[in-house]
Amino acid sequence: MISTEGSEFSLAVALGANLASPVGEPLATLLALRPLLTITLLQLWAAWGEEPPALQWSPLFRTAAVGGPPGQPDYLNAVLLVRGEGTPQEQRALEVLARLQQLEHQFGRERRERWGPRSLDLDLLWWGPLQCSSERLVLPHPLWSQRPFVLAPLAAINGDLVPPGASMTVNQQLAELQRSSGKPPPKPLKGAGGWPESP
Ligand code: ATP
Ligand code: CA
Ligand code: CA
Repeated sequence: MISTEGSEFSLAVALGANLASPVGEPLATLLALRPLLTITLLQLWAAWGEEPPALQWSPLFRTAAVGGPPGQPDYLNAVLLVRGEGTPQEQRALEVLARLQQLEHQFGRERRERWGPRSLDLDLLWWGPLQCSSERLVLPHPLWSQRPFVLAPLAAINGDLVPPGASMTVNQQLAELQRSSGKPPPKPLKGAGGWPESP
């Protein structure tokens, strides 16, 4: 079981897309996003004077839309774990969020209806024990543990992880969700955390 004790913390980002962006279908979007998100995060850590964090990417998952209007196309989802030194701070978390929103914008994100289809959605799930409750940023994200499209990618990175604020491992939460929903968990596309290889 990996704990988040000590001076190393994990920050988690959930990625999702179910509409075409200026670069193409969701797969093309996430492939183009990956190096941009990587450089964005490394630049932030460098600007804060911290050592470069380790990035752990989940495989890609194709998942049915949850909530929002009926008839939405399936999503492509993944989770990125950013592990490094440095104390989580609200001001820094807001900087991360602002960069994520810039990337959403670059990939053509338009905000229309709640949980409607989108070309790119980047949510901050948690950053160590940091708690935020402003309108702009709520941490930990209040819904992450109820979402199969978050839990399945997390489990693919490390099912034994007990995320900040959680009392169960990711595998246990995924099993619990499966029991209560009666639905099987989403399956990863071919190709692991390094991606390509798709369908
Ligand atoms: P959900 O957050 O339930 O997944 P959503 O991703 O569809 O819903 P958005 O329309 O993308 O919601 O975002 C609405 C607002 O949520 C954003 O303007 C952002 O400031 C705010 N927000 C609050 N907490 C977070 C967080 N942890 N990660 C990302 N955005 C957040
Ligand atoms: Ca979201
Ligand atoms: Ca969002």
